[in-house]
Amino acid sequence: MATVNDVREVIERAYPPHLAEDWDAVGLICGDPAVSVSKVAFALDCTQAVAQRAVDIGAQMLVVHHPLLMRGVTSVAADTPKGKVIHTLIRGGVALMAAHTNADKARPGVNDVLAELVGIAPGRPLVPADPALAQDTPAKDAAGDACAQDAPALAKAPGLGRLGQLPEAITLREFTQRVANALPETEWGVRAAGDPDQLVRTVAVSSGSGDSFLETAAALGADVYLTSDLRHHPVDEHLRAGGPAVIDTAHWASEFPWTRQVRDIVSAQTGLETEIIELRTDPWTVHAKKEN
Ligand SMILES: [Zn+2]
Repeated sequence: MATVNDVREVIERAYPPHLAEDWDAVGLICGDPAVSVSKVAFALDCTQAVAQRAVDIGAQMLVVHHPLLMRGVTSVAADTPKGKVIHTLIRGGVALMAAHTNADKARPGVNDVLAELVGIAPGRPLVPADPALAQDTPAKDAAGDACAQDAPALAKAPGLGRLGQLPEAITLREFTQRVANALPETEWGVRAAGDPDQLVRTVAVSSGSGDSFLETAAALGADVYLTSDLRHHPVDEHLRAGGPAVIDTAHWASEFPWTRQVRDIVSAQTGLETEIIELRTDPWTVHAKKEN
């Protein structure tokens, strides 16, 4: 019989905590490391519905991507939203653990899953975890092919985002549809900015909120940059500066597929029963286009 700590160690080997950003809060959020575990559940967010589902399916541990508690907390009273989640978990005997930016950067990690889903072999990170490697960044060759020449250490380095090539150039319109077909479905789908008929082949991806890497994607020679949570002004200014086309997906849709990766790791290394909680935690529930 494994313990919460045994599962924690498996996850920390796969997604080393030292890779996490300074502002992040990864690791065990609640639960007793010494308690036995027979079933582990997985989700992207620990919402109240997810916490309740973890209890209902008889899990003793829930592994998520987004930390439940990020900033200073002075109360986990059960009449606050996060306190209610914590009470549900502790009363139901469920430990909670988060692997966040450490899982984004790890190889394999969240960004490798996203890259493979949209049809590229995950190459170099957009931002290597080791800043010394970033200085090895080669210039683009005549064909604008940035990732083909990357040193092997950079091509497999941990870090945020991934760069890769589609097998052949396709239009932005076609690629956007391919992304929509590949990612888990949300109410509002996927949108793109840029000329729909332009050809794209070099693809940059960054799971979750990636608007801070718009310039990086441009500097690395991407034809299109796929991320989430994009806003009007940064995208408009980026395009007018000649930057690559942009694809904006639901944050949940770009990261939820990672739950299969972490589930497979825990299952293979512990032999425990596992279950992905398939509740869609994208907050957007209605999408409307103007009726004629
Ligand atoms: Zn995220």
